Amino acid sequence: MTLANKAAIVTGSTSGIGLGIATALAEAGASVMLNGFGNPDEIEQVRAELATRTGVDVRYSAADMSDPSSVIQMVKDAESVFGKVDILVNNAGIQHVAAIDEFPADRWHKILAINLSSNFFAMQAVIPGMKARGFGRIVMVASAHGLVGSPFKSAYVAAKHGQVGLTKVAALELAETGITVNAVCPGYVRTPLVEGQIADQMKAHNLDREEVIKTVILGSQPNKRFVEVAEMGAVVAFLCSDMAQSITGISLPVDGAWTAR
Ligand code: NAD
Repeated sequence: MTLANKAAIVTGSTSGIGLGIATALAEAGASVMLNGFGNPDEIEQVRAELATRTGVDVRYSAADMSDPSSVIQMVKDAESVFGKVDILVNNAGIQHVAAIDEFPADRWHKILAINLSSNFFAMQAVIPGMKARGFGRIVMVASAHGLVGSPFKSAYVAAKHGQVGLTKVAALELAETGITVNAVCPGYVRTPLVEGQIADQMKAHNLDREEVIKTVILGSQPNKRFVEVAEMGAVVAFLCSDMAQSITGISLPVDGAWTAR
């Protein structure tokens, strides 16, 4: 499988799943625009290392996905440096855990803006060029929480279900254009975000690391193991390949049977 001569944007790719996906796309030969927050020196190190190791053009945009005008500017910048955008991976996301009656309004708005609305504005910006070239791959990184709910995650679950709905509509609208639109729905993936949760839960429940992983974190993931970021990268790279041209409008669980119940 090759993605040579393809150009990609992966939002929220300075760490975790997004970086795993950007790495897989670059390894398959695609030019990649990274995006996300973090220490500028560390981001530059990641960018340069990926470019050197894979030999592809790797750029970085600091665009804030909570701001629609920044999202649109990121797409314009990618089109300007790469000449086009063939692949858009909407991955940036944040979480806040609280009961509905205590959920802060600003967190609700921020989660909806980053996890869902940015997907819409980025798609809107890339679609005209994709249509003109007769090729496009749009992948939403949703979640098992795009398919099922959990208490205390109202904004996150609403946004993730929104990504799944948006995927279906876009796939139907674009079905005859050569553009596919799919969502991937990971269960728990081993990322810095989740590593932090393990440490917090060890303290909160007075459990050791293995017990926290088995009972607290992976309680809902029947295969009792984390998805690795490289697995997410491989799934997304396949969905972006020519051989996946008939796969569109799906929401693919990568969750160790979490949503099989
Ligand atoms: P992470 O915190 O490691 O990475 C999130 C990325 O998004 C970072 O690069 C961060 O800088 C970026 N980001 C945050 N706010 C941003 C903003 N306003 N603008 C631009 N970039 C921003 O998290 P992760 O675990 O890799 O999660 C990535 C995606 O996968 C999210 O959409 C998340 O909901 C989803 N997901 C994660 C898991 C999991 O278990 N880790 C499971 C299911 C779904």
